[in-house]
This record gives sequence, C-alpha cells and structure tokens, in this order.
Amino acid sequence: MSKQPAYLVLNAGSSSLKFSAFRQHSHNDDLETLLSGQISGIGSVARFEAKGADRRRLANHTWNDQDSSCRDTLLQYVLNWVSETLVNDEIVAVGHRVVHGGRDLGRPMRVSPKLLDELDSLVPLAPLHQPHNLAPMRILAKNFPDLEQVACFDTAFHSTQPWLARTFALPQALTDEGVCSYGFHGLSYEYVTSQLLESRPDLAEGHIIICHLGNGSSLCAVKGGQSVDTSMGFSALDGVPMGTRSGSIDPGVILYLMREKKMGLEELEDLLYRQSGLIGVSGISNDMKVLQESNDPDARKAVELFCFRVAKEVAALATSMGGLDALVFTAGIGENSPEIRAMIAERLEWLGVRIDADANARKAYLISATDTRVPVFVVPTNEEMMIAKHTINVLGQMMGNA
Ligand code: ADP
Repeated sequence: MSKQPAYLVLNAGSSSLKFSAFRQHSHNDDLETLLSGQISGIGSVARFEAKGADRRRLANHTWNDQDSSCRDTLLQYVLNWVSETLVNDEIVAVGHRVVHGGRDLGRPMRVSPKLLDELDSLVPLAPLHQPHNLAPMRILAKNFPDLEQVACFDTAFHSTQPWLARTFALPQALTDEGVCSYGFHGLSYEYVTSQLLESRPDLAEGHIIICHLGNGSSLCAVKGGQSVDTSMGFSALDGVPMGTRSGSIDPGVILYLMREKKMGLEELEDLLYRQSGLIGVSGISNDMKVLQESNDPDARKAVELFCFRVAKEVAALATSMGGLDALVFTAGIGENSPEIRAMIAERLEWLGVRIDADANARKAYLISATDTRVPVFVVPTNEEMMIAKHTINVLGQMMGNA
C-alpha cells in the first residue's frame, strides 16, 4: 500500500521544540491531527513526550545532559520517531512557526536560501525567538535538501493594519527603519477568525475582538476578517501583562531603572521578559491556574490586574475599529478559565457584554446571555493546524505554477 502524504509542523523555541503531524482527509480539505509532542528542557535535561490524536501517550523519554545540547541530534530524533510511528504516512513537507516576518512578509513563504537570509536580517527585531525558529530550517535544508519547507509568520496576519495602528509617535526616521508596531499571535488569530466566521458568517463584516490569553497574551481587533489593530507592538512585551512579561509600561520606567538602578540591557531584558507579569506581581507563580487556586492576597492582585488590563484593552481596540459586534476568548486561560472570562466581561457590561453563568461554566461555544448586545464566544485555537493548512496551500500554489 502506498503511503499517504503527511505534514510536520515545528515550533522551535529557546528551550523547546514542539511538533505535530497532520494528514489531509481524502474526501475533503479538512486536516486530521496524527500526533503531537515536544522536546522540553533543551540545554539542560531534555525530555521527549508525544501523544496520539486520541491524546494517548505514545512516548516519554529523558536524555542525559550531553546529548540534549545538540539541536541537530534532537531534531533528527524527532524526525526518526515520527517516521517510525506513522507507518502509513510519509512526511512530504515541514511547516515552521516563525515569530517575525518584518514589514514585507505578509504571507507564508516557501523556505529558500534567499528567504533564510531575509529572515536572518530580522533577528534584531526578535532576538530571543527568531534565531531558534530558523535553526531547524537550516538543519533540515542541509540534511534533507529535497524536503519542502514553509515558513509561517506570527506577524503576517497583522500586515493588513492601517498606518494609524502601526505607528509610534517617534521621529519618522525610526519608523522608516522599522521601529513600529507589528503584532504577534497572528496564526492563532487567523485560525480563530476562520473558525468563528465558518460558524457565524453573519459576522464576516463585523467588529470582532479576540483575546488570546495564554502564557503570552494579546488581543486583536478584526474587521472584515482582517486584523486592524492589536495590543502587542514592536515586541512581544507590549499590551497586557503576561505570565512573566510586563505588558505595556511607561517607557519612563526604563529610563529610571537605567539611571537610578544602573540596569544594563541584560538585566532589563530579564526583568521585563522573565520577572514581571503574573510572577512579578504575585511573587508566587506565572501560572494563572496556580494563582486562581491560591488564597494569597498577592495572587489575587495579579489576577485582578490581569483582568483589568485585558478589559481596558478591549475598550481601546473597540474604539480603534469603531465598534464591537463579538468578543472571543481563546488560548490556555481564555479557553479554560470561566472565572477570568467572567471577571473581564463584568468590566465590559457598559459595552453590551454580558455572560451567561451556566454557559460560561460549561465552556459552551456561545457564552453570552441571550438578551445582551455582544455575543461572546470561546473558540479553541490551533496554531499548528493553521501552519499545516498554510504549508499545504503554499505547496499547492507551487505545483500550480510548475
Ligand atoms: P502558551 O502561551 O505557552 O501556549 P497556553 O495557551 O497553553 O500557553 O496557556 C497557558 C496558561 O493557561 C497558563 O497560565 C495556565 O495556568 C493557564 N490555564 C490552563 N488551564 C487553566 C485553567 N483551567 N484555569 C486557569 N488557567 C488555566
């Protein structure tokens, strides 16, 4: 029996490599998840875990320190394991999550030496993420030159934003060289928008705000199915507070810390990316679930500040796009915490947002009260599936042009 084509999706971070494999249904364009997993702890004690489509654990393995520092070896391990596990399928292409596509890459692209150079030039815009995203592309290009690869950018969905939403009030020369707002979590917003509009085509021209609330959090204003504004800006630090990131703060704070505390670049980076947000305010955890289960008043403060800032951002984005016709919650916190959804919605009653307590508690798709103006949805995100879809489309276009 000939093997069916399958698509591998890679999301490479500083200490983790997440992977998923998909297959296209033979009778329609829908995608089926075959398996998913990750290597975590890269650089310290690397651990491999994987589960099947039915969420059953398929593998669990820990390396000793020496083996785990070589990304080449770890990537090869994933490829071998996936090939051995998917006995009826053959990986024909790999889709990669790439944090930054800059101003010019507004859609997924086939990986080529020229594209890799272009993506390298964007490293200064995302120095903590971009190099890790590019590493597996290079390894695969070297070891498997015939394997097709597609890069999908977290910034691309936001490329439709008007200049007003993209521009900081800085001297024009800085804007011209790329110091502007890009926005992130674009693959999540694209997926959630497509899911929502499939079930509610009446919202196609509507003003939708999507709250992607996870370890990293941001919000996006979507109008006519396109991103028109977002809470994240030049970096993934902007907007609402996150697990360990500050969200927006007065830029004067940075000047103060440099002048009075003599903080340097690395100390500031550590403070803003790793010591702030939920962990900074609570002093307990960066994990929302842990904070919600805690009786400590500082845990409560962190939860309240998070909800306050998300609600404030919803109001700002509604003003930015001139209306609010639907509110959507997604990602780890947005999908799983009825309490957080309720606390945010409570602050938005004046905008016509009201949640039905029962629907919210049982994580219904539509959780708003029947007599309220703005429908509120919980839509699970799936960035990996979005990448797989893009990968298939880009390859399809290539074949069409061949
Ligand atoms: P990432 O940004 O790393 O993809 P996720 O989208 O998985 O993160 O979100 C992780 C966050 O979701 C964590 O703060 C976690 O505590 C939170 N979370 C997951 N389940 C729940 C829950 N049942 N209640 C509250 N928070 C939850």
